[in-house]
Amino acid sequence: MTKLNGKGVCGGVVFGKIQFYRRGAGPIERVPVDDPEAEVKRFEAARGKAVAELAVLYTKASKEVGEENSLLFQIHQMMLEDLDYCDAITGQIREEKVNAEYAVNETAQKFADMFASMDDEYMRGRAADVRDVSRRVLSILTGVPAGGIESDGPVIVAADDLAPSETVQLDKSKVLAFVTAGGSASSHTAILARTMGIPAVIGVGGALTEELDGREAAVDGFTGEVYLDPDEDTRGHLQVKARKDAEYRQLLSQYRGKETRTKDGQQLLLYANIGSPDDMEAVLNNDAEGVGLFRSEFLYLESEDYPTEERQFQAYKEVAEKMEGRRVVIRTLDIGADKQAAYFRLPPEDNPAMGMRAIRICLTRPEIFKTQLRALYRASAYGKIAIMFPLITSVRELREIRKLAADVRAELSVKNIPFNPDTELGIMIETPAAAVISDQLAKMVDFFSVGTNDLTQYTLAADRQNESVAEFADPHHEAILRLIEYSAKSAHEAGIWIGICGELAADQELTRTFLQMGIDELSVSPPAVLPLRARICQM
Ligand code: PEP
Ligand code: MG
Repeated sequence: MTKLNGKGVCGGVVFGKIQFYRRGAGPIERVPVDDPEAEVKRFEAARGKAVAELAVLYTKASKEVGEENSLLFQIHQMMLEDLDYCDAITGQIREEKVNAEYAVNETAQKFADMFASMDDEYMRGRAADVRDVSRRVLSILTGVPAGGIESDGPVIVAADDLAPSETVQLDKSKVLAFVTAGGSASSHTAILARTMGIPAVIGVGGALTEELDGREAAVDGFTGEVYLDPDEDTRGHLQVKARKDAEYRQLLSQYRGKETRTKDGQQLLLYANIGSPDDMEAVLNNDAEGVGLFRSEFLYLESEDYPTEERQFQAYKEVAEKMEGRRVVIRTLDIGADKQAAYFRLPPEDNPAMGMRAIRICLTRPEIFKTQLRALYRASAYGKIAIMFPLITSVRELREIRKLAADVRAELSVKNIPFNPDTELGIMIETPAAAVISDQLAKMVDFFSVGTNDLTQYTLAADRQNESVAEFADPHHEAILRLIEYSAKSAHEAGIWIGICGELAADQELTRTFLQMGIDELSVSPPAVLPLRARICQM
Protein backbone atom coordinates (compact mmCIF):
# COMPACT_ATOMS: atom_id res chain seq x y z
CA MET A 1 0.00 0.00 0.00
CA THR A 2 1.22 3.52 -0.80
CA LYS A 3 -0.19 6.72 0.65
CA LEU A 4 -0.32 10.04 -1.22
CA ASN A 5 -1.01 13.27 0.63
CA GLY A 6 -2.85 16.29 -0.63
CA LYS A 7 -5.42 18.75 0.65
CA GLY A 8 -8.99 17.57 1.18
CA VAL A 9 -11.36 20.16 -0.27
CA CYS A 10 -14.57 18.16 -0.10
CA GLY A 11 -15.17 15.54 2.60
CA GLY A 12 -16.21 11.93 2.02
CA VAL A 13 -14.62 8.50 1.72
CA VAL A 14 -14.74 6.40 -1.45
CA PHE A 15 -13.11 3.27 -2.87
CA GLY A 16 -12.57 2.64 -6.58
CA LYS A 17 -10.26 2.52 -9.55
CA ILE A 18 -8.20 5.51 -10.62
CA GLN A 19 -8.72 6.81 -14.11
CA PHE A 20 -6.75 9.65 -15.61
CA TYR A 21 -8.62 12.45 -17.28
CA ARG A 22 -7.75 12.70 -20.97
CA ARG A 23 -7.77 15.90 -22.95
CA GLY A 24 -9.54 16.03 -26.30
CA ALA A 25 -8.92 17.78 -29.59
CA GLY A 26 -9.85 21.31 -28.46
CA PRO A 27 -12.03 23.75 -30.39
CA ILE A 28 -13.38 22.58 -33.76
CA GLU A 29 -12.84 25.00 -36.63
CA ARG A 30 -15.16 25.59 -39.58
CA VAL A 31 -13.20 24.77 -42.75
CA PRO A 32 -14.70 25.33 -46.24
CA VAL A 33 -14.24 22.26 -48.52
CA ASP A 34 -14.33 21.85 -52.32
CA ASP A 35 -15.49 18.24 -52.28
CA PRO A 36 -18.37 17.82 -49.80
CA GLU A 37 -19.02 14.23 -50.94
CA ALA A 38 -15.55 13.26 -49.73
CA GLU A 39 -16.41 14.79 -46.32
CA VAL A 40 -19.69 12.87 -46.22
CA LYS A 41 -17.69 9.68 -46.83
CA ARG A 42 -15.26 10.59 -44.04
CA PHE A 43 -18.21 11.12 -41.70
CA GLU A 44 -19.82 7.81 -42.71
CA ALA A 45 -16.57 5.95 -42.13
CA ALA A 46 -16.06 7.55 -38.71
CA ARG A 47 -19.65 6.84 -37.75
CA GLY A 48 -19.29 3.19 -38.75
CA LYS A 49 -16.13 2.87 -36.70
CA ALA A 50 -17.80 4.48 -33.68
CA VAL A 51 -20.73 2.05 -33.90
CA ALA A 52 -18.30 -0.87 -34.04
CA GLU A 53 -16.38 0.45 -31.01
CA LEU A 54 -19.61 0.76 -29.07
CA ALA A 55 -20.60 -2.80 -29.96
CA VAL A 56 -17.29 -4.07 -28.55
CA LEU A 57 -17.73 -1.96 -25.41
CA TYR A 58 -21.26 -3.28 -24.97
CA THR A 59 -20.14 -6.92 -25.17
CA LYS A 60 -17.25 -6.31 -22.78
CA ALA A 61 -19.34 -4.33 -20.30
CA SER A 62 -22.27 -6.74 -20.27
CA LYS A 63 -19.88 -9.55 -19.30
CA GLU A 64 -18.27 -7.50 -16.55
CA VAL A 65 -21.09 -5.43 -15.10
CA GLY A 66 -24.23 -7.08 -16.48
CA GLU A 67 -26.55 -6.29 -19.33
CA GLU A 68 -28.60 -3.70 -17.51
CA ASN A 69 -25.57 -1.57 -16.67
CA SER A 70 -24.32 -1.75 -20.23
CA LEU A 71 -27.46 -0.57 -21.98
CA LEU A 72 -26.02 2.89 -22.39
CA PHE A 73 -23.62 1.63 -25.03
CA GLN A 74 -26.54 0.21 -26.98
CA ILE A 75 -28.44 3.48 -26.69
CA HIS A 76 -25.37 5.27 -28.02
CA GLN A 77 -25.20 2.92 -30.99
CA MET A 78 -28.85 3.64 -31.76
CA MET A 79 -28.22 7.36 -31.58
CA LEU A 80 -25.49 7.04 -34.19
CA GLU A 81 -27.90 5.19 -36.44
CA ASP A 82 -30.65 7.75 -36.01
CA LEU A 83 -31.61 9.17 -39.39
CA ASP A 84 -32.44 12.68 -38.16
CA TYR A 85 -29.00 12.99 -36.59
CA CYS A 86 -27.13 11.59 -39.61
CA ASP A 87 -29.16 13.59 -42.14
CA ALA A 88 -28.58 16.81 -40.20
CA ILE A 89 -24.82 16.24 -40.42
CA THR A 90 -24.60 15.17 -44.06
CA GLY A 91 -27.11 17.91 -44.99
CA GLN A 92 -24.95 20.58 -43.41
CA ILE A 93 -21.76 19.26 -45.07
CA ARG A 94 -23.44 19.36 -48.50
CA GLU A 95 -25.35 22.63 -48.14
CA GLU A 96 -22.64 24.68 -46.46
CA LYS A 97 -19.66 22.86 -48.04
CA VAL A 98 -17.94 22.48 -44.68
CA ASN A 99 -15.70 19.90 -43.01
CA ALA A 100 -17.26 16.85 -41.32
CA GLU A 101 -15.88 17.79 -37.88
CA TYR A 102 -17.68 21.12 -37.94
CA ALA A 103 -21.00 19.60 -39.01
CA VAL A 104 -20.81 16.88 -36.32
CA ASN A 105 -20.00 19.44 -33.66
CA GLU A 106 -22.77 21.83 -34.71
CA THR A 107 -25.37 19.07 -34.97
CA ALA A 108 -24.38 17.67 -31.58
CA GLN A 109 -24.88 21.10 -30.04
CA LYS A 110 -28.26 21.61 -31.73
CA PHE A 111 -29.56 18.19 -30.70
CA ALA A 112 -28.20 18.59 -27.16
CA ASP A 113 -29.93 21.99 -26.85
CA MET A 114 -33.16 20.49 -28.15
CA PHE A 115 -33.04 17.62 -25.62
CA ALA A 116 -32.03 19.97 -22.80
CA SER A 117 -35.10 22.15 -23.36
CA MET A 118 -37.60 19.28 -23.19
CA ASP A 119 -40.04 18.96 -20.28
CA ASP A 120 -39.45 15.26 -19.79
CA GLU A 121 -36.57 14.55 -17.38
CA TYR A 122 -35.53 11.37 -19.22
CA MET A 123 -35.32 13.21 -22.55
CA ARG A 124 -33.32 16.04 -20.97
CA GLY A 125 -30.80 13.44 -19.86
CA ARG A 126 -30.23 12.49 -23.52
CA ALA A 127 -28.43 15.83 -24.09
CA ALA A 128 -25.31 14.40 -22.41
CA ASP A 129 -25.57 11.22 -24.52
CA VAL A 130 -25.72 13.01 -27.85
CA ARG A 131 -22.64 15.02 -26.83
CA ASP A 132 -20.91 11.85 -25.75
CA VAL A 133 -21.49 9.93 -29.00
CA SER A 134 -20.57 12.96 -31.07
CA ARG A 135 -17.29 13.29 -29.14
CA ARG A 136 -16.54 9.69 -30.07
CA VAL A 137 -17.08 10.42 -33.77
CA LEU A 138 -15.04 13.63 -33.51
CA SER A 139 -12.13 11.82 -31.90
CA ILE A 140 -12.10 9.32 -34.79
CA LEU A 141 -12.28 12.14 -37.35
CA THR A 142 -9.54 14.21 -35.73
CA GLY A 143 -7.37 11.29 -34.65
CA VAL A 144 -7.13 12.85 -31.19
CA PRO A 145 -8.53 10.72 -28.35
CA ALA A 146 -11.75 12.14 -26.88
CA GLY A 147 -11.39 14.18 -23.71
CA GLY A 148 -12.91 13.16 -20.42
CA ILE A 149 -13.20 9.72 -18.94
CA GLU A 150 -14.25 6.53 -20.60
CA SER A 151 -15.40 3.84 -18.27
CA ASP A 152 -18.25 1.46 -17.70
CA GLY A 153 -18.76 2.46 -14.10
CA PRO A 154 -17.81 5.26 -11.70
CA VAL A 155 -14.10 5.94 -11.14
CA ILE A 156 -11.74 8.14 -9.15
CA VAL A 157 -10.85 10.86 -11.66
CA ALA A 158 -7.20 11.85 -11.51
CA ALA A 159 -5.57 14.75 -13.38
CA ASP A 160 -2.68 17.17 -13.17
CA ASP A 161 -5.35 19.83 -12.77
CA LEU A 162 -8.86 20.31 -14.12
CA ALA A 163 -10.23 23.50 -15.63
CA PRO A 164 -13.78 24.45 -14.63
CA SER A 165 -14.89 23.87 -18.25
CA GLU A 166 -13.48 20.33 -18.11
CA THR A 167 -15.07 19.58 -14.75
CA VAL A 168 -18.55 20.65 -15.80
CA GLN A 169 -18.46 18.53 -18.92
CA LEU A 170 -17.74 15.30 -17.03
CA ASP A 171 -20.55 12.84 -16.59
CA LYS A 172 -20.98 13.18 -12.81
CA SER A 173 -22.52 9.75 -12.44
CA LYS A 174 -19.11 8.36 -13.39
CA VAL A 175 -17.12 10.35 -10.82
CA LEU A 176 -16.51 8.86 -7.36
CA ALA A 177 -13.89 11.43 -6.40
CA PHE A 178 -11.43 13.95 -7.83
CA VAL A 179 -7.71 13.76 -7.14
CA THR A 180 -5.43 16.36 -8.71
CA ALA A 181 -1.69 16.98 -8.61
CA GLY A 182 -2.11 20.78 -8.56
CA GLY A 183 -5.00 23.09 -7.76
CA SER A 184 -6.02 25.40 -4.95
CA ALA A 185 -8.82 25.19 -2.40
CA SER A 186 -10.70 28.25 -3.69
CA SER A 187 -10.34 27.33 -7.37
CA HIS A 188 -13.57 26.78 -9.24
CA THR A 189 -12.84 23.08 -9.62
CA ALA A 190 -12.73 22.68 -5.84
CA ILE A 191 -15.91 24.76 -5.57
CA LEU A 192 -17.63 22.56 -8.14
CA ALA A 193 -16.64 19.41 -6.26
CA ARG A 194 -18.15 20.86 -3.08
CA THR A 195 -21.32 21.91 -4.90
CA MET A 196 -21.78 18.38 -6.20
CA GLY A 197 -20.74 16.84 -2.89
CA ILE A 198 -18.02 14.77 -4.60
CA PRO A 199 -15.01 13.99 -2.36
CA ALA A 200 -11.93 15.79 -3.67
CA VAL A 201 -8.24 15.92 -2.87
CA ILE A 202 -6.00 18.51 -4.55
CA GLY A 203 -2.30 19.33 -4.48
CA VAL A 204 -1.07 15.72 -4.38
CA GLY A 205 1.96 16.77 -6.42
CA GLY A 206 4.27 14.81 -8.71
CA ALA A 207 3.48 11.45 -7.08
CA LEU A 208 0.25 11.39 -9.06
CA THR A 209 1.50 9.99 -12.35
CA GLU A 210 -0.37 8.41 -15.25
CA GLU A 211 1.18 5.07 -14.33
CA LEU A 212 -1.43 4.90 -11.57
CA ASP A 213 -4.18 4.57 -14.19
CA GLY A 214 -6.34 1.58 -13.32
CA ARG A 215 -4.97 1.13 -9.76
CA GLU A 216 -7.32 0.40 -6.85
CA ALA A 217 -7.46 3.30 -4.41
CA ALA A 218 -9.29 4.80 -1.46
CA VAL A 219 -9.80 8.55 -1.19
CA ASP A 220 -10.36 10.35 2.10
CA GLY A 221 -11.60 13.83 1.21
CA PHE A 222 -11.66 14.81 4.91
CA THR A 223 -7.92 14.38 5.48
CA GLY A 224 -6.61 14.70 1.90
CA GLU A 225 -5.18 11.16 1.95
CA VAL A 226 -5.20 8.85 -1.07
CA TYR A 227 -4.31 5.17 -0.47
CA LEU A 228 -3.14 3.06 -3.41
CA ASP A 229 -4.02 -0.64 -3.10
CA PRO A 230 -5.33 -0.09 0.46
CA ASP A 231 -4.67 -2.98 2.83
CA GLU A 232 -7.36 -4.64 4.93
CA ASP A 233 -6.69 -2.49 8.02
CA THR A 234 -6.94 0.75 6.08
CA ARG A 235 -10.06 -0.42 4.29
CA GLY A 236 -11.68 -1.32 7.61
CA HIS A 237 -10.75 1.97 9.22
CA LEU A 238 -12.04 3.98 6.23
CA GLN A 239 -15.25 2.00 6.04
CA VAL A 240 -15.96 2.89 9.67
CA LYS A 241 -15.29 6.53 8.83
CA ALA A 242 -17.65 6.41 5.83
CA ARG A 243 -20.35 4.82 8.00
CA LYS A 244 -19.97 7.49 10.71
CA ASP A 245 -20.24 10.20 8.07
CA ALA A 246 -23.45 8.63 6.77
CA GLU A 247 -24.81 8.47 10.34
CA TYR A 248 -23.92 12.13 10.92
CA ARG A 249 -25.75 13.07 7.69
CA GLN A 250 -28.73 11.05 8.90
CA LEU A 251 -28.68 12.90 12.22
CA LEU A 252 -28.67 16.22 10.42
CA SER A 253 -31.88 15.35 8.66
CA GLN A 254 -33.75 16.44 11.82
CA TYR A 255 -32.93 20.01 10.72
CA ARG A 256 -34.78 19.63 7.46
CA GLY A 257 -37.86 21.82 7.24
CA LYS A 258 -36.68 23.99 10.15
CA GLU A 259 -35.97 27.71 10.13
CA THR A 260 -32.37 28.81 10.57
CA ARG A 261 -32.66 30.67 13.85
CA THR A 262 -30.41 31.04 16.90
CA LYS A 263 -31.71 30.14 20.36
CA ASP A 264 -32.26 33.84 21.11
CA GLY A 265 -34.30 34.28 17.96
CA GLN A 266 -31.96 35.80 15.35
CA GLN A 267 -32.99 34.44 11.98
CA LEU A 268 -30.87 34.05 8.91
CA LEU A 269 -31.69 32.88 5.40
CA LEU A 270 -29.66 29.81 4.49
CA TYR A 271 -29.36 29.39 0.73
CA ALA A 272 -27.34 27.14 -1.58
CA ASN A 273 -24.89 27.76 -4.43
CA ILE A 274 -25.36 25.93 -7.72
CA GLY A 275 -23.70 25.74 -11.13
CA SER A 276 -26.45 24.10 -13.13
CA PRO A 277 -30.11 23.01 -12.92
CA ASP A 278 -28.75 19.49 -12.26
CA ASP A 279 -27.68 20.67 -8.79
CA MET A 280 -31.30 21.33 -7.82
CA GLU A 281 -31.77 17.81 -6.53
CA ALA A 282 -29.02 18.45 -3.98
CA VAL A 283 -30.52 21.85 -3.11
CA LEU A 284 -33.92 20.31 -2.36
CA ASN A 285 -32.50 17.23 -0.60
CA ASN A 286 -30.48 19.46 1.68
CA ASP A 287 -33.45 21.75 2.28
CA ALA A 288 -31.86 25.06 1.30
CA GLU A 289 -34.22 28.01 1.73
CA GLY A 290 -33.33 29.48 -1.62
CA VAL A 291 -30.57 29.61 -4.21
CA GLY A 292 -28.12 32.34 -3.23
CA LEU A 293 -25.79 31.98 -6.21
CA PHE A 294 -26.44 30.29 -9.53
CA ARG A 295 -23.10 30.59 -11.36
CA SER A 296 -24.67 30.96 -14.80
CA GLU A 297 -21.31 30.88 -16.59
CA PHE A 298 -21.25 27.10 -16.25
CA LEU A 299 -24.04 26.99 -18.86
CA TYR A 300 -21.58 28.72 -21.18
CA LEU A 301 -18.65 26.52 -20.17
CA GLU A 302 -20.45 23.28 -20.94
CA SER A 303 -21.44 24.52 -24.42
CA GLU A 304 -19.42 24.58 -27.60
CA ASP A 305 -20.95 27.93 -28.58
CA TYR A 306 -22.95 30.76 -26.97
CA PRO A 307 -26.01 29.20 -25.34
CA THR A 308 -29.13 30.57 -27.00
CA GLU A 309 -31.66 32.75 -25.18
CA GLU A 310 -34.09 29.84 -25.26
CA ARG A 311 -31.65 27.37 -23.73
CA GLN A 312 -30.80 29.81 -20.95
CA PHE A 313 -34.46 30.64 -20.38
CA GLN A 314 -35.26 26.94 -19.94
CA ALA A 315 -32.44 26.50 -17.42
CA TYR A 316 -33.39 29.56 -15.33
CA LYS A 317 -37.09 28.70 -15.51
CA GLU A 318 -36.41 25.14 -14.36
CA VAL A 319 -34.52 26.35 -11.29
CA ALA A 320 -37.11 29.03 -10.49
CA GLU A 321 -39.98 26.56 -10.76
CA LYS A 322 -38.26 23.94 -8.65
CA MET A 323 -37.79 26.49 -5.84
CA GLU A 324 -41.56 27.14 -5.84
CA GLY A 325 -41.53 30.84 -5.05
CA ARG A 326 -38.40 30.88 -2.89
CA ARG A 327 -35.66 33.25 -4.00
CA VAL A 328 -33.21 32.22 -6.74
CA VAL A 329 -30.27 34.60 -7.20
CA ILE A 330 -28.83 34.14 -10.68
CA ARG A 331 -25.49 35.73 -11.32
CA THR A 332 -24.89 37.00 -14.83
CA LEU A 333 -22.03 35.60 -16.85
CA ASP A 334 -18.73 35.59 -14.93
CA ILE A 335 -16.49 34.23 -17.65
CA GLY A 336 -12.76 34.99 -18.04
CA ALA A 337 -9.77 34.41 -15.72
CA ASP A 338 -9.78 30.66 -14.97
CA LYS A 339 -13.20 30.18 -16.60
CA GLN A 340 -12.43 30.12 -20.31
CA ALA A 341 -14.64 29.07 -23.21
CA ALA A 342 -12.80 28.96 -26.55
CA TYR A 343 -15.67 30.44 -28.57
CA PHE A 344 -15.43 33.74 -26.65
CA ARG A 345 -12.01 34.13 -28.26
CA LEU A 346 -10.67 36.16 -25.36
CA PRO A 347 -7.14 37.32 -26.10
CA PRO A 348 -4.45 35.86 -23.80
CA GLU A 349 -3.61 38.17 -20.90
CA ASP A 350 -0.68 38.42 -18.52
CA ASN A 351 -2.96 38.86 -15.50
CA PRO A 352 -6.30 37.32 -16.46
CA ALA A 353 -7.76 37.59 -12.95
CA MET A 354 -7.29 41.36 -13.25
CA GLY A 355 -8.25 41.42 -16.90
CA MET A 356 -11.26 41.04 -19.13
CA ARG A 357 -13.68 39.03 -17.06
CA ALA A 358 -17.24 39.02 -15.74
CA ILE A 359 -19.16 42.30 -16.03
CA ARG A 360 -16.33 43.83 -18.07
CA ILE A 361 -17.01 41.37 -20.89
CA CYS A 362 -20.76 41.90 -20.59
CA LEU A 363 -20.48 45.68 -20.83
CA THR A 364 -18.10 45.56 -23.79
CA ARG A 365 -20.15 42.90 -25.60
CA PRO A 366 -23.69 44.04 -24.75
CA GLU A 367 -25.42 41.68 -27.21
CA ILE A 368 -24.23 38.66 -25.21
CA PHE A 369 -25.32 40.40 -22.01
CA LYS A 370 -28.73 41.41 -23.34
CA THR A 371 -29.45 37.87 -24.54
CA GLN A 372 -28.83 36.67 -21.00
CA LEU A 373 -30.88 39.47 -19.44
CA ARG A 374 -33.80 38.66 -21.75
CA ALA A 375 -33.65 34.99 -20.73
CA LEU A 376 -33.48 35.98 -17.05
CA TYR A 377 -36.40 38.39 -17.21
CA ARG A 378 -38.51 35.91 -19.16
CA ALA A 379 -37.81 33.29 -16.49
CA SER A 380 -38.79 35.80 -13.78
CA ALA A 381 -42.43 35.13 -14.70
CA TYR A 382 -42.04 31.58 -13.31
CA GLY A 383 -40.63 32.13 -9.82
CA LYS A 384 -38.78 34.57 -7.56
CA ILE A 385 -35.70 35.33 -9.59
CA ALA A 386 -33.14 37.93 -8.50
CA ILE A 387 -30.38 39.03 -10.88
CA MET A 388 -26.87 39.63 -9.58
CA PHE A 389 -23.89 41.26 -11.30
CA PRO A 390 -20.29 40.16 -10.63
CA LEU A 391 -17.02 42.07 -10.26
CA ILE A 392 -18.48 45.53 -9.81
CA THR A 393 -15.96 48.27 -9.09
CA SER A 394 -17.81 51.52 -9.86
CA VAL A 395 -21.04 53.48 -9.93
CA ARG A 396 -20.56 54.02 -13.67
CA GLU A 397 -20.76 50.27 -14.37
CA LEU A 398 -23.94 50.03 -12.37
CA ARG A 399 -25.51 52.93 -14.30
CA GLU A 400 -24.73 51.15 -17.59
CA ILE A 401 -26.13 47.88 -16.30
CA ARG A 402 -29.33 49.51 -15.13
CA LYS A 403 -29.76 51.17 -18.50
CA LEU A 404 -29.32 47.85 -20.37
CA ALA A 405 -31.71 46.09 -17.97
CA ALA A 406 -34.28 48.86 -18.52
CA ASP A 407 -33.88 48.48 -22.32
CA VAL A 408 -34.51 44.74 -22.05
CA ARG A 409 -37.61 45.28 -19.89
CA ALA A 410 -38.92 47.82 -22.40
CA GLU A 411 -38.35 45.41 -25.32
CA LEU A 412 -40.19 42.63 -23.53
CA SER A 413 -43.10 44.93 -22.66
CA VAL A 414 -43.46 46.04 -26.28
CA LYS A 415 -43.64 42.41 -27.35
CA ASN A 416 -46.07 41.55 -24.55
CA ILE A 417 -43.72 38.91 -23.16
CA PRO A 418 -44.46 38.30 -19.48
CA PHE A 419 -41.82 39.10 -16.84
CA ASN A 420 -41.69 40.39 -13.29
CA PRO A 421 -40.90 44.13 -13.47
CA ASP A 422 -39.97 44.09 -9.75
CA THR A 423 -37.21 41.51 -10.21
CA GLU A 424 -34.54 42.34 -7.63
CA LEU A 425 -31.22 43.55 -9.02
CA GLY A 426 -28.15 43.13 -6.86
CA ILE A 427 -24.38 43.13 -7.02
CA MET A 428 -21.55 41.06 -5.73
CA ILE A 429 -19.20 42.78 -3.33
CA GLU A 430 -16.03 41.06 -4.41
CA THR A 431 -13.60 43.88 -5.05
CA PRO A 432 -12.20 46.20 -2.37
CA ALA A 433 -13.50 49.12 -4.49
CA ALA A 434 -17.08 47.90 -4.24
CA ALA A 435 -16.82 47.43 -0.48
CA VAL A 436 -15.30 50.87 0.06
CA ILE A 437 -18.01 52.65 -1.99
CA SER A 438 -20.75 50.30 -0.80
CA ASP A 439 -22.60 53.28 0.72
CA GLN A 440 -23.07 54.72 -2.80
CA LEU A 441 -23.75 51.38 -4.51
CA ALA A 442 -26.35 50.38 -1.90
CA LYS A 443 -28.60 53.23 -3.07
CA MET A 444 -28.69 51.79 -6.59
CA VAL A 445 -29.53 48.10 -5.96
CA ASP A 446 -31.85 45.80 -4.04
CA PHE A 447 -29.21 43.62 -2.40
CA PHE A 448 -25.53 42.81 -1.93
CA SER A 449 -23.86 39.43 -1.85
CA VAL A 450 -20.25 39.24 -0.71
CA GLY A 451 -17.99 37.10 -2.89
CA THR A 452 -15.30 36.34 -0.36
CA ASN A 453 -13.25 34.23 -2.79
CA ASP A 454 -12.47 37.16 -5.05
CA LEU A 455 -12.65 39.74 -2.27
CA THR A 456 -9.82 37.82 -0.57
CA GLN A 457 -7.67 37.53 -3.69
CA TYR A 458 -8.06 41.19 -4.65
CA THR A 459 -7.73 42.64 -1.15
CA LEU A 460 -4.72 40.56 -0.15
CA ALA A 461 -3.17 40.54 -3.65
CA ALA A 462 -2.99 36.72 -3.60
CA ASP A 463 -4.06 34.84 -6.73
CA ARG A 464 -6.72 32.29 -5.73
CA GLN A 465 -5.42 29.86 -8.36
CA ASN A 466 -1.89 29.91 -7.03
CA GLU A 467 -1.39 27.35 -4.27
CA SER A 468 2.05 28.75 -3.42
CA VAL A 469 0.53 31.99 -2.08
CA ALA A 470 -2.30 30.22 -0.24
CA GLU A 471 -0.82 31.21 3.13
CA PHE A 472 -1.18 34.89 2.17
CA ALA A 473 -4.78 34.47 1.12
CA ASP A 474 -6.22 34.24 4.62
CA PRO A 475 -9.94 35.04 4.37
CA HIS A 476 -10.01 35.62 8.16
CA HIS A 477 -7.70 38.63 7.68
CA GLU A 478 -8.94 41.70 9.53
CA ALA A 479 -9.05 43.64 6.23
CA ILE A 480 -11.61 41.23 4.78
CA LEU A 481 -13.77 41.25 7.88
CA ARG A 482 -13.75 45.04 8.03
CA LEU A 483 -14.78 45.30 4.37
CA ILE A 484 -17.67 42.89 4.97
CA GLU A 485 -18.72 44.76 8.09
CA TYR A 486 -18.67 48.11 6.31
CA SER A 487 -20.68 46.66 3.39
CA ALA A 488 -23.26 45.30 5.85
CA LYS A 489 -23.55 48.71 7.48
CA SER A 490 -23.97 50.40 4.06
CA ALA A 491 -26.61 47.86 3.04
CA HIS A 492 -28.66 48.26 6.19
CA GLU A 493 -28.47 52.05 6.16
CA ALA A 494 -29.91 51.97 2.64
CA GLY A 495 -32.56 49.43 3.71
CA ILE A 496 -31.37 46.53 1.54
CA TRP A 497 -30.33 42.99 2.46
CA ILE A 498 -26.83 41.56 2.36
CA GLY A 499 -25.65 37.98 2.03
CA ILE A 500 -22.38 36.12 1.64
CA CYS A 501 -21.98 33.59 -1.16
CA GLY A 502 -18.21 33.01 -1.21
CA GLU A 503 -16.75 29.89 0.42
CA LEU A 504 -16.28 31.78 3.69
CA ALA A 505 -20.05 31.69 4.23
CA ALA A 506 -19.71 28.03 5.30
CA ASP A 507 -16.83 28.69 7.70
CA GLN A 508 -18.33 27.95 11.10
CA GLU A 509 -15.54 29.77 12.92
CA LEU A 510 -17.02 32.99 11.55
CA THR A 511 -20.73 32.24 11.84
CA ARG A 512 -21.01 34.17 15.12
CA THR A 513 -19.15 37.15 13.61
CA PHE A 514 -21.49 37.20 10.60
CA LEU A 515 -24.53 37.10 12.87
CA GLN A 516 -23.11 40.00 14.88
CA MET A 517 -22.58 41.99 11.68
CA GLY A 518 -26.25 41.41 10.87
CA ILE A 519 -25.62 39.45 7.69
CA ASP A 520 -29.09 38.49 6.42
CA GLU A 521 -28.27 35.49 4.29
CA LEU A 522 -25.54 32.88 3.83
CA SER A 523 -25.25 30.83 0.66
CA VAL A 524 -23.16 27.65 0.76
CA SER A 525 -22.69 24.45 -1.23
CA PRO A 526 -25.77 22.20 -0.86
CA PRO A 527 -24.07 19.60 1.40
CA ALA A 528 -22.99 22.40 3.78
CA VAL A 529 -26.56 23.66 4.39
CA LEU A 530 -27.69 21.29 7.13
CA PRO A 531 -24.42 21.29 9.15
CA LEU A 532 -24.55 25.11 9.18
CA ARG A 533 -28.23 25.20 10.14
CA ALA A 534 -27.51 22.77 12.99
CA ARG A 535 -24.71 25.05 14.22
CA ILE A 536 -26.83 28.22 14.06
CA CYS A 537 -29.82 26.60 15.75
CA GLN A 538 -27.53 25.58 18.64
CA MET A 539 -26.08 29.06 19.07
C1 PEP B 1 -16.60 34.79 -4.99
O1 PEP B 1 -15.75 35.38 -5.65
O2 PEP B 1 -16.57 34.68 -3.75
C2 PEP B 1 -17.73 34.14 -5.66
C3 PEP B 1 -18.75 33.66 -4.98
O3 PEP B 1 -17.68 34.02 -7.02
P1 PEP B 1 -16.72 32.99 -7.77
O4 PEP B 1 -16.14 32.07 -6.74
O5 PEP B 1 -17.54 32.27 -8.75
O6 PEP B 1 -15.72 33.89 -8.39
MG1 MG C 1 -16.13 35.83 -7.72
